Amino acid sequence: MSLPQASRAMFNLPRYFSTISFILIVLAAGVFGPLYRQVAERQISDMAERHNIEAARHLSGLLQPPLRQSLLAAPGGDGQSPRQSAKLTAFRQQTRALTENTTIIAVRLYNRGGVVVFDSDPEAAGETRQDSRDFRMALAGRVSSGLKRQTQPAADGESAEQQVLVSLFPLSDEAGEVEGVFELAQDVTPLMRELQRSQRWVAISVFTVFALLFFLQYLLVRRAQRILNEQEGRLKAARDTLELEVEARTRELKEANAELQDEVAERREAEDKLNYLAYHDPLTGLANRRSFVEHLGACLRGLGAGGRQLAVLFIDLDQFKQVNDSFGHGVGDELLIAVAARLIGQLPAADMLSRIGGDEFICLIGQVGGEDEATMVAGQIIGSFAQPFRFGGYDFSLTASVGICLAPRDGASVVELMRNADTAMYQAKASGRGQFRFYRREMTRRAQERSHVEKLLRQALENKELAIYLQAQVDVGSDRLVGAEVLVRWHSPELGLVLPSRFIPLAEESGIIIPLGVWVLRETCRLMQDWEQSGFTLPMVSVNVSARQLEHPEFDNMLRGILAETGMNPARLKLELTESVLMGVGEASAHLDRLKKIGVSLALDDFGTGYSSLSYLKQLPVQQLKIDRSFVTGIGRNKSDEAIIRTVIELAASLGFGIVAEGVETPEQAAFLATLGCQHVQGALHGPVATPAEFRQRWGGRS
Ligand code: C2E
Ligand code: MG
Ligand code: MG
Repeated sequence: MSLPQASRAMFNLPRYFSTISFILIVLAAGVFGPLYRQVAERQISDMAERHNIEAARHLSGLLQPPLRQSLLAAPGGDGQSPRQSAKLTAFRQQTRALTENTTIIAVRLYNRGGVVVFDSDPEAAGETRQDSRDFRMALAGRVSSGLKRQTQPAADGESAEQQVLVSLFPLSDEAGEVEGVFELAQDVTPLMRELQRSQRWVAISVFTVFALLFFLQYLLVRRAQRILNEQEGRLKAARDTLELEVEARTRELKEANAELQDEVAERREAEDKLNYLAYHDPLTGLANRRSFVEHLGACLRGLGAGGRQLAVLFIDLDQFKQVNDSFGHGVGDELLIAVAARLIGQLPAADMLSRIGGDEFICLIGQVGGEDEATMVAGQIIGSFAQPFRFGGYDFSLTASVGICLAPRDGASVVELMRNADTAMYQAKASGRGQFRFYRREMTRRAQERSHVEKLLRQALENKELAIYLQAQVDVGSDRLVGAEVLVRWHSPELGLVLPSRFIPLAEESGIIIPLGVWVLRETCRLMQDWEQSGFTLPMVSVNVSARQLEHPEFDNMLRGILAETGMNPARLKLELTESVLMGVGEASAHLDRLKKIGVSLALDDFGTGYSSLSYLKQLPVQQLKIDRSFVTGIGRNKSDEAIIRTVIELAASLGFGIVAEGVETPEQAAFLATLGCQHVQGALHGPVATPAEFRQRWGGRS
């Protein structure tokens, strides 16, 4: 951007001023000079004329009466005779005497015919005036004058220029009739010279004044020009600064604009991403729940009354949680991506495959003939897990449970269909891994039952329907009681005795496990203290803790609080955690260290059923491994179970862990375990799970 350049071709004030002033002065001189001269000449003529009038009045009074005869003679007469006459000579002398030493140089009398009747100059040739304008005016009774130049012979023989004012006056009789014309010539040369002189002075004065004025104004104008130049300079500097500022601002604006455009592009990209995320699962790239719901809704509307059917297949991976817990979320994610890719490859007929939860997928087949066709698709899904998934040197054998429902048979709305497919999937899972089930109405009834049980469980805590039971842990060699595991029981007025396998998973899913776990811990500690005060000391008590409890941010504080509140010695409390519990809790090692600091000990429950890596195990601050009941059952029947038991016992010994076997029912099992070095056992062999009273009765005297 640039400013107008007008100031660069700045108006040169002094130059224009001097030119215009000069022209004006010349014009003024050209106009006022002649005007002045004219006015001055007019004044001189008037003055001379007044003088002539005075003189004419006097002289005409002298000459008119004696010359009346000649005047009245024939108007066209030549008037020669009077001129010759002695009378005229006398008049001439008289006139000359009167006009001597005055400026009057000639006096003449004309008769009405314009013939000279008297002339003060005897030499002058007789002339007539009849045709002149001045003469006719005089005849008309008016005085008229005129300036004229004439050459006058000088005394030195040279001739001199003379300026003469000639005035003509009417000569009237008593009646006022004009009888003739009186002419008087006055020499105005000195006056005119005087006029010229004063004119010169006036011209000089005027010129000087103008020159002075011009000079003063020129100085003023030059000063003004300098100020203007300075201002122009300042303006130019300001303009340059402004231009620089404008340039800088323009640059800034351009940069800001570029930034803005980048931002807009970023925002657009983010919007696209958000849009994508709104309808896609970011991990697998499959459609998400929202996308599925919308698509299923559209398909349902399109079904109409044409007898067409669609199928919704709910897919849930069976052991995914364990893999995720054991190998971490990174491997879990990789596995999900691989599963998604494999499902897509195996299901070309699917209208939409979507991931709607952690390990939950859902598939829509827009048109199916009936259950047979849907069965085929379910078979394809289950079949796609036949080959294990391979990552980082591990083979992961997964299975999936599939629940199927058909529309419109099993539901008319999206919500209904998805819920029913989910219910069918639960049934498939309950029947074992890698199965599929079609939705049936009674499934809903069972699911409703489940939610009813959940409702009852919520009330169970408040209604004091829960109770803690105990199972002894015994030293094989000495039959000495070394500790006990606390196992919770629910005495429901409606359902009767409910075992943990039925309500603990429900409690975990619903979150009831948190208050339930607190209650179990408090009851245990209180019982221990009661027993101790009454003289029965149980050396060690184990309490089961599930993942949801351990994950709870207040778990440590809660534990500390209960120990403080009951006065229980933490050294006598053992927490039983499953392998998957440890894997599922972030930074498990640090977490367990904190628990260890509280003073409690830790046992790994159901050992051997999870995916624990030995190197990981080594880092954990665990004191005891519990051999799972499933391996103990295999003793004497299954060599690989025995081999696993042997390995676990050796491992525990080499890592310095204590060991206990659970579910020991027979003396053979106990003997086998003792031979391998596992001295501590828990199970029916040494007594069933018992109420505290029963337990005390059984062990009270032998501790
Ligand atoms: P677990 O911790 O592995 O408990 C051992 C289970 O084996 C108990 O089942 C016990 O009754 C059973 N058992 C022990 N010895 C024998 C035997 O010789 N033969 C047979 N057939 N079974 C035996 P229970 O009481 O039904 O508990 C099941 C599971 O529920 C427990 O497995 C534990 O994981 C969980 N659980 C029980 N109480 C609690 C609790 O208070 N909190 C939490 N979080 N989980 C609990
Ligand atoms: Mg246990
Ligand atoms: Mg166990």
